[in-house]
Amino acid sequence: MTLPLRFAAALACATLALSACDGGRNNQQLTPRDGAAARYTPSGQRVPLQDWQPIPRRAVSPETQLARDTILGPNAIEDGKVKLWWFGVSSFVISGGGHLWLMDAWEPIGLQADYVPVGREEIAAIQPEAIFIGHGHFDHAADAGYIAGRSGAVVVGSEEICTSVQADAAQDDLQNAFDCLITGTATLPAPGTTQTVELWNDMAAVSILQHIHSAASPQTYELGDTPFIHVPNLLPYLGYLNSSPEEWLRFLSTLTLEQGGTWAYHFKLGDFTLLWHDSTGPIVASDPDGAAVQAALDSFPGCVDVQLGAIVGFDQPISGLRDPRLYVEHAHPRVFLPNHHDAWAPVVGGGAAAYKSEWQREMDSLENPPLVDYLTDPVDYMAPRVYDIKDPIWAEPMPGSRCAGE
Ligand SMILES: [Zn+2]
Repeated sequence: MTLPLRFAAALACATLALSACDGGRNNQQLTPRDGAAARYTPSGQRVPLQDWQPIPRRAVSPETQLARDTILGPNAIEDGKVKLWWFGVSSFVISGGGHLWLMDAWEPIGLQADYVPVGREEIAAIQPEAIFIGHGHFDHAADAGYIAGRSGAVVVGSEEICTSVQADAAQDDLQNAFDCLITGTATLPAPGTTQTVELWNDMAAVSILQHIHSAASPQTYELGDTPFIHVPNLLPYLGYLNSSPEEWLRFLSTLTLEQGGTWAYHFKLGDFTLLWHDSTGPIVASDPDGAAVQAALDSFPGCVDVQLGAIVGFDQPISGLRDPRLYVEHAHPRVFLPNHHDAWAPVVGGGAAAYKSEWQREMDSLENPPLVDYLTDPVDYMAPRVYDIKDPIWAEPMPGSRCAGE
């Protein structure tokens, strides 16, 4: 999409000396655990979590390094730092431990286009090594096939998600250019189950939690939750109208993508931990699956320092922001950043400002509220968040969490 960035990339490549395009310079000080690991070559396979062989870090070409420098800024991958860039809805670029990966993969498009300053072309150009998919709906996964097909990124998700992603990539005959790391199916393992996988051979295992997709749950009226009706901001749609017939066709073709379960991912880098989820189901304690998810949220290794969580959902007109609040209440993060609250679809995507004060009110009601780093569209798109994993604060257990109780 966004032409200025593409031109900037081409221009920079043309004007910079080769040394400046030299990729991999951020990677040399880090050593994979098993040293001379074989090169990883994807081939269109589906690999269950238990059969996955941890892969080595990938060499970065000068072109990729330049794209990263241009799109993410210099030193996108930095030793001892975790960085994240939001590119709409629940999609993030994340770097850490010498790697670069995505959470979800969708260039927000529909009535609007180019509201987010990067598109699927730029995200493919930075060559992510993996794409962790929270669930298969279009606003989370519609560009995973496009990006994985052009980057070889491992697609982490369920069987159903992999089927959709491969089918999308097959349109460009790129279905064998990447592998799927299979987390399960729409129903297996049961919500509340956490699995782990060592995706890379030089990084701690990633924890993968099957949880519950957002849903209206009228039976929870009795809990005293109050509805919340936001006032949507329509200006982003009118100001960024999608005038491309091809983009309209592509968008319409993605609307029926299967959900394929609901997956949260937890990363641990030293004492720093990061939890990401792109949906928030009605995890009330009276529901056995809800209770299991509540317990799982407080059982990750090292607990949760930074939580990136969806704060919108289908329960909002019934119980307000109770469901996303429950995810925070049980994960006990030190810092919380919202997602899925931007202007991504008219009315349902109200724009971040529409939820801000209500969300802060929910957080203030918690016994140990996190610091809220409230992402706002469009100013926070691609505005990096940087965490120093050696900051002693991450070693301190968050009050109320399981880690504080041990
Ligand atoms: Zn969604």
